[in-house]
Amino acid sequence: MKIKINVVTDIVVKPIIAEAIIETGTLLNISQAHIDSTKGEITADVPKDDFDRFSKALISRGVEIIVLDKPILRDEDECVECGACVSVCPVKVFTFGEDWSVNLDEGNCIQCGTCIEMCPHGALALEQ
Ligand code: SF4
Ligand code: SF4
Repeated sequence: MKIKINVVTDIVVKPIIAEAIIETGTLLNISQAHIDSTKGEITADVPKDDFDRFSKALISRGVEIIVLDKPILRDEDECVECGACVSVCPVKVFTFGEDWSVNLDEGNCIQCGTCIEMCPHGALALEQ
């Protein structure tokens, strides 16, 4: 499962994610992290069977968890296969096929929204 972990100012200096991993034995696969002295935003994959225990361990430490279960949608009628989305997606949701068509693997989407701004045809949107 893809999740976003939001860590707020007063606890960002504490090793809370490490504590939750050790406590629950969860194999967390981090795909993106933005952390500074004021806040942290981490996108990661967590095994489905571990999600409940891991999220409870984090929430009990004051962390917000968002499940990323609404990946990018593409309007096939609007897409002109220009490839602009291929280069900007940080997790390679879009790839070129052998015939230079643009393939979509929405299961990898971390809902960052970058491709939506870059698409010249307004073909992309996140489910509300
Ligand atoms: S940027 Fe938009 S139009 Fe271009 S390939 Fe991606 S979805 Fe299609
Ligand atoms: S919102 Fe777009 S750029 Fe961001 S991860 Fe999803 S497909 Fe990639």
